[in-house]
Amino acid sequence: MTLPSIPLAGVIGNPIAHSKSPLLHGHWLKTYGITGHYVPLEVDAEHLEAVLKAMPQMGFVGCNVTIPHKERVVQFVDQITDRATLIGAVNTLIFRPDGSIVGDNTDGYGFIENLRHGAPEWQAEAGPAVVLGAGGAARAVVASLLDAGVPEILLTNRTRVRADRLREDFGARVKVVEWVQAGNILEEAATLVNTTSLGMAGKSELRIPMDGLRSETVVTDLVYNPLITNFLKTAQERGCVTVDGLGMLLHQAVPGFERWFGRRPVVDEATRQVVLG
Ligand code: NAP
Repeated sequence: MTLPSIPLAGVIGNPIAHSKSPLLHGHWLKTYGITGHYVPLEVDAEHLEAVLKAMPQMGFVGCNVTIPHKERVVQFVDQITDRATLIGAVNTLIFRPDGSIVGDNTDGYGFIENLRHGAPEWQAEAGPAVVLGAGGAARAVVASLLDAGVPEILLTNRTRVRADRLREDFGARVKVVEWVQAGNILEEAATLVNTTSLGMAGKSELRIPMDGLRSETVVTDLVYNPLITNFLKTAQERGCVTVDGLGMLLHQAVPGFERWFGRRPVVDEATRQVVLG
């Protein structure tokens, strides 16, 4: 198969109309004068395999995969990166010229890059990280924090069994704490991460006592709507450096864009404004 003259990429999900990815990649394509397109693709689970098989012949060089297909798509790839295997989900596909499909997961990369850019003084080794939540996004966060060198992760989730599963998958550096005890472990945190959907517009607030939080703790939230959640506001009032969740969304897109279109895009203020706008 020859390389397409007009390379296409996109994001597969359902629903997909709300996705910010077309705005983001469209901005980069325009900024770098690249001939190519990035489109939203609303695909049902029953058509996922057929769609993936057809895409390379249509000029697609790859795509992102989002809810609800991130876990299911694993079975349709020919090769999977170690980090995607560990996370158990794929969010970036690369269609190779030989017709094979490579699956990667860049969420953890996006999380750490956002943390490093938003809090340049952040050091993984500084002490334990407290992670709130044990859903799909938490797996990427835990994997990347461990990889970055965090000595210990105190993990807490409303549904205990989900946190226990992460502990089994990621090993002894992860310690599970009861959800009702969440407020009591904050003082131990060098890093504090909200990976739950609490605090998001239209959802309940994250209500854990934050009195124990120290001003040295770097605090970040995966929720980016609103950009500054009440969780981040409280952390700011306690003197903490905070990092909003939008940057994770932007940074996770970098490796895919580079692989598909041959240019490493820069995440800057203009990029943020395009997505916020
Ligand atoms: P998920 O798999 O559905 O997990 C949701 C998490 O929120 C679980 O830990 C769940 O606990 C917890 N939760 C939900 N309602 C709760 C409640 N009423 N009380 C206590 N805990 C509650 O979702 P996900 O994919 O991990 O995404 C989580 C959040 O991260 C979402 O807001 C998503 O938009 C955001 N996110 C952001 C980025 C980014 O780029 N910034 C990337 C990925 C995800 P249980 O297990 O007890 O249900």
